[in-house]
Amino acid sequence: MQAPAIGGVQVPRGGGQTIRLPRGASLSDFADRIGANPASLVQIMLHLGEMVTATQSVNEETLQLLGAELDYIVQVVSPEEEDRELLESFKIEFGEDEGDEADLAPRPPVVTVMGHVDHGKTKTLDAIRHTNVASREAGGITQHIGAYQVSTTHEGERRKITFIDTPGHEAFTAMRARGAKATDIAVLVVAADDGVKPQTIEALNHAQAADVPVVVAVNKIDKEGADPTKVRAQLTEYGLVAEEYGGSTLFVDISAKQGIGIDSLLEAILLTADAELDLRANPDMDAQGLAIEAHLDKGRGPVATVLVQRGTLRVGDSIVCGEAFGRVRAMLDDNGEQVEEADPSRPVLVLGLTAVPRAGDNFIVVSDDRMARQIAQQRAARQRIADMAKSGRRRTLEELFKDLEKGQVNELKLIIKGDVSGSVEALEDALLKIDVGEEVSLRVLHRAVGAITEYDVNLAMADDNAVIIGFNVRPEVRARDLAEREGVDIRYYSVIYQAIEEIEAALKGMLKPEFEEVRTGTAEIREIFKVPKIGNVAGSMVRTGTITRNSKARLIRDGVVVADNLTVSSLRRFKDDATEVREGFECGIGVGYNDLKLEDVIETFEMREKPRV
Ligand code: GDP
Repeated sequence: MQAPAIGGVQVPRGGGQTIRLPRGASLSDFADRIGANPASLVQIMLHLGEMVTATQSVNEETLQLLGAELDYIVQVVSPEEEDRELLESFKIEFGEDEGDEADLAPRPPVVTVMGHVDHGKTKTLDAIRHTNVASREAGGITQHIGAYQVSTTHEGERRKITFIDTPGHEAFTAMRARGAKATDIAVLVVAADDGVKPQTIEALNHAQAADVPVVVAVNKIDKEGADPTKVRAQLTEYGLVAEEYGGSTLFVDISAKQGIGIDSLLEAILLTADAELDLRANPDMDAQGLAIEAHLDKGRGPVATVLVQRGTLRVGDSIVCGEAFGRVRAMLDDNGEQVEEADPSRPVLVLGLTAVPRAGDNFIVVSDDRMARQIAQQRAARQRIADMAKSGRRRTLEELFKDLEKGQVNELKLIIKGDVSGSVEALEDALLKIDVGEEVSLRVLHRAVGAITEYDVNLAMADDNAVIIGFNVRPEVRARDLAEREGVDIRYYSVIYQAIEEIEAALKGMLKPEFEEVRTGTAEIREIFKVPKIGNVAGSMVRTGTITRNSKARLIRDGVVVADNLTVSSLRRFKDDATEVREGFECGIGVGYNDLKLEDVIETFEMREKPRV
């Protein structure tokens, strides 16, 4: 079906049809899907006020806008979906237990410990590990592999719990940002002598956003000034109501330092798991799960701690983990013991991968090495394309400025980190006062005191265009690496007005250019000639301004526009081609339109960018 011309361009209309595009697709990709000419889509975008080239990767909004204009429903495929489709092409389904109900067996809960800095997360993890009988029985040497498992007696039954032992929500958010969910339950550690703090809330928000039930460990009850009741009262404001107050959240008073209340904490975790979650998995299938931590070991090559989520992982299995693959050469548990197999919720250190996967990458056991390699290679190839799109999308302020000019972005998102809270607030205040009109706005996603952390970079990544501002602070090494790898812009300032000046400039650049139509000339038709190959040409008298070849034109009859989107395709003075003809002169004008009448007026105009004031 042909569209009524949009901006003078003919393109097939979708009629509500759905098309799927990868993130960071270009107009060329779009054109490909609908069998149109990329150049015509560029023109349509121009008509819609956005200037983009055919091959440039555009954001989702632009794809949606174009889709709406052409009557297509555009679905932008997320990286997770892309990966699922890739795996499907190998007949692998990630994240699903094979078989039916009868094949599922209970599995231990996987727990992450979160909370405000210095409230005792590390100490709590240590205390849990050391009061644990299982690890003492094993007599092994504690190995920090990123997660460990403990066992405890609960209602007369031996039960296991898995703890992810990188405390804090950075790891949690980083994984979630990548679509991975490792955690079943969050333990929120709050120091009883300090109470609820900003990071307590941040951690809680993350847990709630991920729909993960929370158990509160009220720590440091041994300290003078500890007020566990106050912690309970404070948290009710955030929707965590203690069981003893009629709510459903378990609060446990502990002293990580003195080992008080640790058993009750484990108990509370199991009670919460049993009450709120159905933790079961099929242990009899090829293993699947997530990488929790990985690094390059000098002697052993790439090593990765993986969390088995379903199935059983065995030595000798062919495995693909993110873009790494290989065969499981050996597995070690958190006591440094060799293990032959790992069942659901069990974390193990895997040796034998070809490369170092990233935290949050999924791992899958596949039937043979070849398939593992193929999947890994296709993922790597896709990642490269995504990176290219990303480098076109995550922008420095200067680049953002250009994107903004093209009208691709109209919100500048910032993350502000500063040395003292006074300066952070002052900067935020000043920035939010910058006013450049309604079309662009500035949004502060997060502000805090302290160095720029991985959390900040992850947050900026999650929001494609966020820029991080460091006021008298610098990034942590890992944050800087991550920012460099992911192309996140970090700007450093030590003088507030400098920051304001730059951001203001960026915001001004962000303003979509406004175009106005400027009439350049009019001509009255006095004679009509038929010219072979060209069609009808209007013998005209230029009444006002100048008629220029190639300028845009419309035809007006009795004050009514009868044809729009025309172009002065030929212009002649007597027998000669002319580039322009001024007021008071006669000329022959061809506009590629045959239905001309005497006394029609040809009006020419151009689109000019309105300067900003
Ligand atoms: P994190 O930043 O949340 O991991 O906190 P840490 O576990 O590193 O603990 C911070 C500080 O609080 C350390 O000096 C710990 O020794 C201390 N601490 C942790 N738990 C307790 C406790 O139960 N009682 C007391 N008195 N101090 C504790």
